[in-house]
Amino acid sequence: FLKDIKTKLSSVREKWSDGVVSLFSGKINDDFWIDLEEKLISGDVGVDLSESLVSELKGIYRKEGIREPEVLLSSFRSLLVEKLKKIPLMGAPVDLSSRPKVIVMVGVNGSGKTTTAGKLASSFQAKGKKVIMAAADTYRAAAVEQLQAWGERTGVRVIAQQQGSDPGAVTFDSINAAKASGAEVVIVDTAGRLQSKHNLMEELGKIYRVISREIEREDIESFLVLDAVTGQNALRQAQVFDEVAPLTGIVLTKYDNTAKGGIVLAIADQLALPIRYIGLGEGVEDLGPFDPEEFVDGLLG
Ligand code: GDP
Repeated sequence: FLKDIKTKLSSVREKWSDGVVSLFSGKINDDFWIDLEEKLISGDVGVDLSESLVSELKGIYRKEGIREPEVLLSSFRSLLVEKLKKIPLMGAPVDLSSRPKVIVMVGVNGSGKTTTAGKLASSFQAKGKKVIMAAADTYRAAAVEQLQAWGERTGVRVIAQQQGSDPGAVTFDSINAAKASGAEVVIVDTAGRLQSKHNLMEELGKIYRVISREIEREDIESFLVLDAVTGQNALRQAQVFDEVAPLTGIVLTKYDNTAKGGIVLAIADQLALPIRYIGLGEGVEDLGPFDPEEFVDGLLG
């Protein structure tokens, strides 16, 4: 995967970071700092973070008396990696040493929850772990079918009831099935929720309460699945979901689709939540743990 990430990220780089990187080939003067800040903002890094990154880099530039733009670029790279690494559990894969672990996938419709559930299940299974997927999106019939299709493709057991059934009950059954069969991990796919849909948010709260009754807090992962194209709305989404299902990380999907690499930095900075996995395509192999160094290297070339 890590070899792959470079190739895939290079398309993001061409679209966005080439502009950033090419700035570092000219003169370091007032225009340079203004252009850099503009490029960062237009790349979705966010106004506050762009300002603070530029001012931090300026500080390093002055303090270390840097003359060569390439040296400054390498300081910039380190600064970005440092920012990302400051957040605990950044890029940490799910720890499957205690069982069963329950991973609940939350996020708005179409963000990639079901796909990520399938990819994660497949990767755990490839490591010899026994996995169960819970079809707790009982709201849409197609969602259950989609998860079942992933189950067939990956050979992972899916626990489902009919459309409209209680997602809390599906979750409860899945956890019990995992305990009974010695499965290491349960992945709970939930219905897409928008902030206005209060009943769906309440339903998610209920799913989370069912899990909390059965499983120790440290064995619950609550992943916000976020489409990289979401941009600056991500903060609001995270706050809303965090209230009902306290988040332990972000899965950033569709990174292959975005021209704006900076969203990762904005998310890490604003939410102080670790990005645990990154999605780079629709295929079963297109998910990997988020690696800050590889990521920034891939981004800045
Ligand atoms: P859900 O409604 O949150 O469960 O979202 P889905 O899992 O159904 O995903 C919505 C669409 O996004 C599907 O067509 C997926 O194939 C696609 N998708 C999910 N993750 C990725 C990704 O990392 N890259 C790309 N290009 N597409 C993705």
